[in-house]
Amino acid sequence: LIQLYIPLNFLGVLYRELRQSLTDIERMFGLMHQHREVADAPDALALLPGPASVYFEHVGFAYDPKRVILHDVDFAIPAGRTVAVVGHSGSGKSTLARLLYRFYDVQQGAIRVNGHDLRALTQTSLRQAIGIVPQDTVLFNDTLFYNIQYGRPDASRAEVEAAARAAQLIDFIARLPDGWETRVGERGLKLSGGEKQRVAIARALLKNPAILIFDEATSALDSKTEKAIQAQLDLAAEGRTALVIAHRLSTIMNADEIIVLDQGRIVERGTHAELLARGADYARMWALQQQEREEAQLEDSSP
Ligand code: ATP
Repeated sequence: LIQLYIPLNFLGVLYRELRQSLTDIERMFGLMHQHREVADAPDALALLPGPASVYFEHVGFAYDPKRVILHDVDFAIPAGRTVAVVGHSGSGKSTLARLLYRFYDVQQGAIRVNGHDLRALTQTSLRQAIGIVPQDTVLFNDTLFYNIQYGRPDASRAEVEAAARAAQLIDFIARLPDGWETRVGERGLKLSGGEKQRVAIARALLKNPAILIFDEATSALDSKTEKAIQAQLDLAAEGRTALVIAHRLSTIMNADEIIVLDQGRIVERGTHAELLARGADYARMWALQQQEREEAQLEDSSP
């Protein structure tokens, strides 16, 4: 019986590992169960490597035809520039990211990369060009090394270490008793939100994509962590075309353009300074966040 038990037990472990990875991938893209498959056109082109411009051209989109989520959304991100999207919860920010990664096709208008409609490109070449720093990074039940190398599985040890250094993870790893071999994930060491985000940045740097989607975590952060995230974002976006979904306006003050979405419509756009000067929605959001920050600082300093 023992002879039978060992292989069965091994199979059980293998099955759990496999299920865990599948769940992680689903969670990573926030898809869970339902999504429509998109397919490559028979004559689909491969997107060539190199700098990439992105254009959301009068995009209209609905997950369910009875409820339109995006209305005539029109903006461009020139190659190497950063556009940030802000807006209330449910305004459609993450939907823009899902459409750029082509999890769904738009129903009106088009999304173009270097002038090519996404529907005319192979999905593999498109997804190779895009790196995602998600809101909640998925960690696999494996070593830290594996978790970073996951950004590009054929990367060498030296490349993985360089990415970790750039994402400011090296000191953290050096302090761990098992270093790179530390197991993380649900059954290993639990990383803080900031550490997880740095793992995601190291993965993205390793992939070296022309386009970066940075989906900022929603959880409240102290102003020191907020500054660190801003620095990380600037680092990851440098030299790339970046779409940033922002919750804290202080992290996107340097964006080339800020788009304010409300119920799937662009209601304001401009640089941070231009939007403050307009004194409308963005300026109100900014004032509110400044006030919250001051209150948090007062609380911190009270005895
Ligand atoms: P948050 O800041 O809370 O992340 P968001 O601005 O990113 O919000 P989206 O996630 O883009 O908002 O969602 C926009 C709208 O689309 C929401 O009303 C949401 O309920 C709806 N939605 C999102 N995903 C799906 C889906 N798979 N099927 C149907 N509706 C969806």
